[in-house]
Amino acid sequence: MTDSMIGLTMPDIGVLSDRVTVILGQNPGPATGPGTNTYLVGTSRQPLLLDTGQGLPQYVLILERGLRETRGGETLQEIVLTHGHMDHQGGVKSVRERFGPLRVSKKPWDQLDGALEVSAIDEGSEITTDGATLQGLWTPGHSWDHLCFYMPEEKALFSGDLVLGAGTTVIPTDGDLGDYVRSLRRLLTLELDLIYPAHGPVIRNPREKIEAYLAHRQLRDEQILEGLRDGVRRIPALVKRIYTDVPEFLHDAAAMSVLAHLRKFEREGLVEHDGDDWSPR
Ligand SMILES: [Zn+2]
Repeated sequence: MTDSMIGLTMPDIGVLSDRVTVILGQNPGPATGPGTNTYLVGTSRQPLLLDTGQGLPQYVLILERGLRETRGGETLQEIVLTHGHMDHQGGVKSVRERFGPLRVSKKPWDQLDGALEVSAIDEGSEITTDGATLQGLWTPGHSWDHLCFYMPEEKALFSGDLVLGAGTTVIPTDGDLGDYVRSLRRLLTLELDLIYPAHGPVIRNPREKIEAYLAHRQLRDEQILEGLRDGVRRIPALVKRIYTDVPEFLHDAAAMSVLAHLRKFEREGLVEHDGDDWSPR
């Protein structure tokens, strides 16, 4: 995530359309920006909840209020998750404690699911609720279990952490940048009017945004290869050279991103490494 995410504030409850309301996860921070967006989807008194935030106690109270004020409702149809990172699934427990044993649907992945029993969904799954359909798109890269959801009623995409409303996505060490870029490219084949991201505001120029994300990754590719060709061998030195516009406290996240690029290059046969020393081949 870049510094453009920092200082960005969003309302706790935001009505975005007839069928979509955002409830903010109450978990702001360097990795989450203003916090995780969770979405009430559907026009009935019993909408579904897409993502659950981190599990902070005040979130459930705001969710309850949002449900009442925007739907006149008391309960949820079910929970759907974009992926298993804690700032998306961490709230499952407290939401279920408040609203009962709701079904939780996601693409299963032992590594992140832990003890959580999930109802399996995947590429091609359709989840319906009054006034809305969510179509699963498997979009690995940020995490292997990552699903986006296309909603034809608004030509909209719930993009999870694949595309964010501000800043750029971090590729964690168990992610895969090659997959990530392929997932981004795939979005360009969709007919899209808007993107509801898991962090930051709604994106109303989806194509431009996706193309900017692809261009950003391409630029980083070039900068890192250039650094290696100039004899820079270590990740911290590459970060210092490339991320000149990013404050130092975000350099750990930047290092993770550089590593994701290096590992992609390694798979592509472009670089090799001896311990922490990376070089072109
Ligand atoms: Zn994530």
